Amino acid sequence: MQKIDEVLKDVKSVAMSGHIRPDGDAIGSALAVYNYIKDNYPQIKADVYMDEIPPVYDFMHRAGEIKNDRPDGLKYDLFIALDCGDLNRLGQSAKYFESAQKTLCIDHHISNKNFAQINYIYPDASSACQLVYKVLDEDKVTKEIAECLYTGMVTDSGIFQYSSTTSETMNIAGKLMDTGIDFNAIVDRVWNLKTYAQNRVLGKCLSDSRLYLDGRLIVSYITAEEMKKYGVTHQDFEGISSSLRNTEGVKVAAFLNEMEDGSFKISLRSNGANVAEIAALYGGGGHVRAAGASAFGRIEDIVENLVKNTEKVLDV
Ligand code: 5GP
Ligand code: MN
Repeated sequence: MQKIDEVLKDVKSVAMSGHIRPDGDAIGSALAVYNYIKDNYPQIKADVYMDEIPPVYDFMHRAGEIKNDRPDGLKYDLFIALDCGDLNRLGQSAKYFESAQKTLCIDHHISNKNFAQINYIYPDASSACQLVYKVLDEDKVTKEIAECLYTGMVTDSGIFQYSSTTSETMNIAGKLMDTGIDFNAIVDRVWNLKTYAQNRVLGKCLSDSRLYLDGRLIVSYITAEEMKKYGVTHQDFEGISSSLRNTEGVKVAAFLNEMEDGSFKISLRSNGANVAEIAALYGGGGHVRAAGASAFGRIEDIVENLVKNTEKVLDV
């Protein structure tokens, strides 16, 4: 894999973006690359685009420069897609990818089908941030860039708990620590600390959960009306599907929440079963142990269908 400095040769303008409804890894990887370009290539016009980010990630350097609006007609020499498994997941930024002369994708989703010209896709990597570190010149990774990368690494690895964590993950995390980042403050901020509303809704969703398939599948969901009652948005559910997964005997956990358009976002977690396969049945994707998709319909029907689809994947 070429270093990013090589990809940037002769490039006068670059846009970058993570996936829709961005999480710590999408935001951290996009801002790490953005900061690196801003610091080292001031002559390049660089723009970072993303949907509105959850406020816990505001602390990252230049987070305030993320552009939510994506006007038509802009063209870039290079587009960099980060933590994004397919073109659709770029949302409104997809048009800049399509019109760019050169495209690069740095990603770790198993469902990624090499949709860019230059693809740096390693499904075994714990996070896109871990891969980004490897394409940057180590000597130019400042404390501010390290904060962005560390955030994505800890959030996508469940604070180095998931099976995707390797010695390379820890070695890179160690190098990031050496830049002087306040690593435990980052973990407290982006992982441990919950708002009162987030904690209440977690309790509600655990309490409402139901077991299926002899306890191998656990499902919980929340409707738009209930979300209003609890004062939460779709940004407040991080961690709920993981908590459901930590139930004895469970192989697959599913958490569903209603979106503005009436569809339900399905968030899947497993202890080894391939939930990316289940997500793919709905046109979604992700990783073996963490995947997602969307479905339209009555929630009772969606759950019934999900039980059938999970049974198929578990019984292979
Ligand atoms: P989460 O449940 O945290 O939203 O997502 C888990 C994983 O699945 C993440 O890596 C995320 O990028 C991926 N994912 C979530 N929803 C979708 C979706 O609708 N389509 C695809 N392709 N991937 C998704
Ligand atoms: Mn990721």
